[in-house]
Amino acid sequence: MKAIAIVGKKKTGKTTMGLALVKKLTEKGYKVGVLKHSHHGFDGAEGADTEEYKKIASCVAAYSPSESFVSWKQERTVQDLVPLMNADVIVMEGGNKVGWLPRVIMVREDNDDKEFYPELALKQIPACSPENPPSDELLEELADLVMDKGFILPGLNCGACGREFCMDFVADIIAGKARVSGCQAMKTQMSVTCNGVELGFNPFVADMLSAGITAMLKQLKGYVPGDIEITIKN
Ligand code: SF4
Repeated sequence: MKAIAIVGKKKTGKTTMGLALVKKLTEKGYKVGVLKHSHHGFDGAEGADTEEYKKIASCVAAYSPSESFVSWKQERTVQDLVPLMNADVIVMEGGNKVGWLPRVIMVREDNDDKEFYPELALKQIPACSPENPPSDELLEELADLVMDKGFILPGLNCGACGREFCMDFVADIIAGKARVSGCQAMKTQMSVTCNGVELGFNPFVADMLSAGITAMLKQLKGYVPGDIEITIKN
């Protein structure tokens, strides 16, 4: 990968030059990623500069002592993003068609929940607004609910659990007919974690990979049968 930094004192036009160079490289057909550093966070001018880069670069990563983020211009999958999040619990807003995790459905008195897959819902809750915020009692209840019953599946739709789609498996978990541990993609003989988050594997792919890696390691001096741990530092 090619890379270059644009440095200089304040008011020397670093952003102007950076934006122009990104534009030029993009015009030449390159996919350009931007790395933006700030000592002061991304409010004000630094945030505005970053927004300008986001308009033209294919990917912008920004970091400061108080905040870091990555922004891609195209849609990325949930599977791509979750391993980057390093969180105890994920709260997803929206994503009605994403059926790999349970949901709560917000409803008004005059609408129904049919289009929001009620079979995937742990609970329906009343609509709220800044003027009519949720009660602390409800928030306590939801926090307990997500820590007790929340989960996320690999979303492979591999069919190894006997359901065509992960969504059907989630519905069965909600209905008490299945357990999260029944997802075959999460219990193959091979496991891979990325930034501490375990990735899901199609069992067939996992078997192929583990057989290939084991065959290669068998050639190495010191190999003995047993659990194998490989760490790739990035
Ligand atoms: S085994 Fe897991 S990943 Fe595969 S379809 Fe079933 S729930 Fe989805």
